[in-house]
Amino acid sequence: QAKATGRNALELYDPQLQAVVRARAKLASDIRAGLADGQFELFYQPQVEECSVRSCEALLRWRHPCDGYISPAVFIPLAEETGLILPLGEWVLQAACKQLASWARQPRLAHLTLAVNVSPRQFRQAGFVAQVLAALANAGAQPHRLKLELTEGLLLDNVEDTIEKMEELKAHGVGFALDDFGTGYSSLSYLKRLPLDQLKIDQSFVRDVLTDANDAAIARTIVALGTSLGLQVIAEGVETEEQRQFLLAHNCHAWQGYLLSPPVSAERFATLPLTYTAHNQTDAQADIPAD
Ligand code: C2E
Ligand code: MG
Ligand code: MG
Ligand code: MG
Repeated sequence: QAKATGRNALELYDPQLQAVVRARAKLASDIRAGLADGQFELFYQPQVEECSVRSCEALLRWRHPCDGYISPAVFIPLAEETGLILPLGEWVLQAACKQLASWARQPRLAHLTLAVNVSPRQFRQAGFVAQVLAALANAGAQPHRLKLELTEGLLLDNVEDTIEKMEELKAHGVGFALDDFGTGYSSLSYLKRLPLDQLKIDQSFVRDVLTDANDAAIARTIVALGTSLGLQVIAEGVETEEQRQFLLAHNCHAWQGYLLSPPVSAERFATLPLTYTAHNQTDAQADIPAD
C-alpha cells in the first residue's frame, strides 16, 4: 500500500505527466462545451457502387473556437475513455437521422443510405437500440436508410449482447458494416454469427495494394471471405484509379476515397456528382500537347 501511495505521489509531481493530464482534462471539458455550443458537424463522404453514389459515410468534424479543426482521430479515443462518447454519439445519431430525412425530401438524394460510425462503448450502453430508434423516429427517417459501422473491438467481450442488439435493430431494417476489417481481432466464427451487411477493407491494406504483395493478398482474401458469407465488401481509402481498377479486377465493386471525394459538408455534398467517371490517364496524357 505504501508502495502504491509512493508511486501516485511520484506521478502527481511529474511535471510532464501533469501537463498531459491537464491537456486531456481541458480537451474533455472542451468537448462538453463544444457539444453545448454546436461546434460539432457531420461531413459526408460518398460511397460508390458500380460507378454510382448509392450511399455515404458520416464523419464527425469539430471546429474548435481556439484550436481550429480537431481530427476525430484525436478526440474520439478520449471521448471513449471519458464516456463523453455517449452524448457525442447520440448527437451524431440525431444529426445523421435529420440529414437522412432531409435527403428523403430531395428527389436527387432520396435514394441514399447513410453509414454512421458507432464506437464500442456507445453500442454497449443499455438503451442503445431505443436511442437509435428514437433518433430515426424523431427525425422521420427510414431505418433501412441507416447503416451502423461497428469495429472488431466490439467483439472482444459480450458477443451475445452485441448480436442481440444487432438483431433487434436489424428487425427494424437498420443495416450493419464491420469497419476497418482486418485490423482487429474478429474470429471467423463470430463473423458468421453477426447479422452484418458489409465488410469494409481497411485503408491500410488499400494504400499499397499495388506495390505490397501482402496487402494485395489480404485485400483479395477479405473480398473472397465477405463474398462467400454473402456480404458486400467495400474498400476505403481509394485514392487512385489504379487502386480502384485492382479492386474491381478482384471483385470488389464498392469503394470510397479521395479518388471521388474527401468527406465534405452537407452543403458541398449536395453539389457532388452522383456518378464516378474514370479518368483514362492515357487519354489525359494524349491531351497534353507534345513539344
Ligand atoms: P473510419 O470510420 O475508418 O473513417 C475513415 C477515415 O479515412 C476518415 O477519417 C476519412 O476521412 C478518411 N479517408 C477517407 N477517404 C480517404 C482516402 O482516400 N485516403 C485517406 N488517407 N483517408 C481517407 P476521419 O474522418 O479523420 O475519421 C477517423 C476515424 O474517426 C474514423 O475512421 C472513425 O473511426 C472515427 N470517427 C469519425 N466520425 C465518427 C463518429 O461520428 N463516431 C465515432 N464513434 N467515430 C467516428
Ligand atoms: Mg467508418
Ligand atoms: Mg474504416
Ligand atoms: Mg479507422
